[in-house]
Amino acid sequence: MPALRPHSPVIVNADLHSHSYFSDGTLSPADLAHRAHGNGVELWSLTDHDEIAGQKEAAEAAGDLGLPYVTGAEISVSFAGQTVHIVGLDFDPENSALQQGLNAVRNGRSERARAMSQEIEKATGLQGVFDGALALAANPQAITRAHLARFLVQQGLFSSVQDVFRKYLAEGKPGFVPHYWISLQEALQWIRCAGGVAVIAHPARYRFTTTQEFALFSEFKRHGGQAVEVITGSHTPAESLKYAGLAKEFGLLASRGSDFHSPQESRVDLGALPSLPQNVEPVWNTFSILA
Ligand code: AMP
Ligand code: MN
Ligand code: MN
Ligand code: MN
Repeated sequence: MPALRPHSPVIVNADLHSHSYFSDGTLSPADLAHRAHGNGVELWSLTDHDEIAGQKEAAEAAGDLGLPYVTGAEISVSFAGQTVHIVGLDFDPENSALQQGLNAVRNGRSERARAMSQEIEKATGLQGVFDGALALAANPQAITRAHLARFLVQQGLFSSVQDVFRKYLAEGKPGFVPHYWISLQEALQWIRCAGGVAVIAHPARYRFTTTQEFALFSEFKRHGGQAVEVITGSHTPAESLKYAGLAKEFGLLASRGSDFHSPQESRVDLGALPSLPQNVEPVWNTFSILA
């Protein structure tokens, strides 16, 4: 890890997890850059699901604002029968192994969304769910459950996206169809090949047993993973404390990101998060942009 030079600015308000309409966010990368800058973010990353098509616009818009930027992506991985999200940061977006890998992950999304749409239609009697959701996806290859949920809210059957997830789209609910993404090892290889740093996203969101969680952290570390999100939009203070402890136990760096998707849907805005605890090492100390 490169040591910080004495004149390096001390970054507190880093937001290294957010989504644009290149995945399931609702804003453009440029709009997000302005919002992050306006909210006092000092270091930003756009981390669309399995997609880096928004990176150029994000980096350029951030550059115009004088907002330090690192590349990002949130990769969907299958581990112990559940989906785990791995955020890759500060990688080379031109790396072809990473580009091909992400393309392969995205290719599975359309069929998965079709299968879920059929299950929702069976359960609700609605028609045209896939086409309706697809029309809401600016990037059709990156269609997500959030697009299905938004379409169902528009149809007036549900009060909110959260309501749709609770009743139909969360794991185990009638509209959910299990899907194999890629292995943890593959995702970590792509990120490493592209010179990036891998981060376990929102660790408290998974429903692992203690043993499975230990296996996740161990495998992640063994395959070169370097950090864990200690502060994220969906953590309680107790959860942040727990994962600060696990970061230290496993020798991992700590990351911080809102997971902002949309002004209407997200509870936590860009940059509007507690600071990292003092006893963990920020992942951004490894970024060359700050050296
Ligand atoms: P997918 O990658 O298609 O499985 O979609 C996952 C996305 O759905 C997440 O990144 C969130 O944006 C959204 N999501 C997952 N669970 C919920 C929930 N309970 N409420 C609202 N949005 C959710
Ligand atoms: Mn999402
Ligand atoms: Mn996620
Ligand atoms: Mn996310």
